[in-house]
Amino acid sequence: MKKAFLFRKLENKKVQCLNCNHKCILNNNSIGLCGVRKNIDGILYNLIYNKIISESIDPIEKKPLYHFLPNTKTYSISCVGCNFKCPWCQNFEISQILKKGFLIGKPRKKEDIIKNALKHNCTSISYTYTEPTVWSEFIYEVSLFAKKNNLKNIWVTNGYFSKECLNYFTKKGLIDAMNIDLKSFNEKTYKEYCNADLKKVISSIEEAYLNRIHIEITTLIIPGVNDNLKEMDKLSKFIFTLDKKGEIPWHISRFFPAYKMVNKSITSIKILEKIKEIGIKNKLKYIYIGNVF
Ligand code: SF4
Ligand code: SF4
Repeated sequence: MKKAFLFRKLENKKVQCLNCNHKCILNNNSIGLCGVRKNIDGILYNLIYNKIISESIDPIEKKPLYHFLPNTKTYSISCVGCNFKCPWCQNFEISQILKKGFLIGKPRKKEDIIKNALKHNCTSISYTYTEPTVWSEFIYEVSLFAKKNNLKNIWVTNGYFSKECLNYFTKKGLIDAMNIDLKSFNEKTYKEYCNADLKKVISSIEEAYLNRIHIEITTLIIPGVNDNLKEMDKLSKFIFTLDKKGEIPWHISRFFPAYKMVNKSITSIKILEKIKEIGIKNKLKYIYIGNVF
C-alpha cells in the first residue's frame, strides 16, 4: 500500500482522486472505480502499489509500437486493475479481478525489474496489459530508475489518464512512448461500454502528442460495436489532425471473442481492409492490420 500522489482532500474525510479522468470522489473507507485506490481516514492510498501480476519480455512490436525502437525487446510489467470495464477485454482475468476483491501480485523492487530488463537486453520498460494509470505510483519509481539506466518508458494505455497525471510524469520527462487505445469515435459507445467520455480520451491523446511523446493509436474493430465505416472515417480524420502529416501509426486490430463478448463473431478481414482504405483516403501513411494470423 502506498499513499497516492494525486488527490485532494474534501470535507468530512472525503477525497477526490485526480489520477484519471473519472476523478472519483470517495467517502471514508470507500474504493474507486478501478478497485485499487482507497480512502482511509481522509488519505487516498494505492492498494496494489508494487504488486506485479505479470512480467515478461516482448518484442516492442507486440505492444504494438512499430515506429519506436523497432526490432528491440521491451520488459513488460503489469499490476491488477483497470479504470474501464470493457466487455471485450482480453486481459479481464487481471484487469477485472478486483471486482471479486482480490488484490493479488508479487511485491517487486524497482531495482530488480531494471536489473532483469538489462540482463535480457531490453531497451525499454512497458507498463501494459491492464491500465498503467491506476498503478502510477510504482510506475513513477520504476520510470525514474529506468531513466538512470538509459531505458525508455512506454505506456500502453486506454488514454483516460488525467492531465494532472500526465503532467506529473512529463515534467520529469518520464514517458517516451505511448500506444493509446482509441476504442471508438462515438460518445454513446464510450459511455455504454467503458463508462467514459470520448472527449476526454481525445484530449488525452492531444496532450500526449503536444508533450512530444511518441504516440501510436490502436482501434480494436468489434462487429456491431464500432465496425461502422462512417465512424472510422471520423476517427481516422482525427488522427490526421494531430500532426497534419499523417505520420502517426494507426493499428486496426481484429477482434476475437473474449470475456463478456464470447458470442460475437471474429472481425472479418474484409471489413479491416475497408477501414484501412478509409484511413489511406484520409491521408494516414502508416496503417497496420493486427491480430491476423
Ligand atoms: S484512478 Fe481513476 S478510477 Fe481509480 S480511484 Fe482514481 S479517479 Fe477513480
Ligand atoms: S481498458 Fe484495456 S485493460 Fe481495461 S478493461 Fe478495457 S480492454 Fe481491458
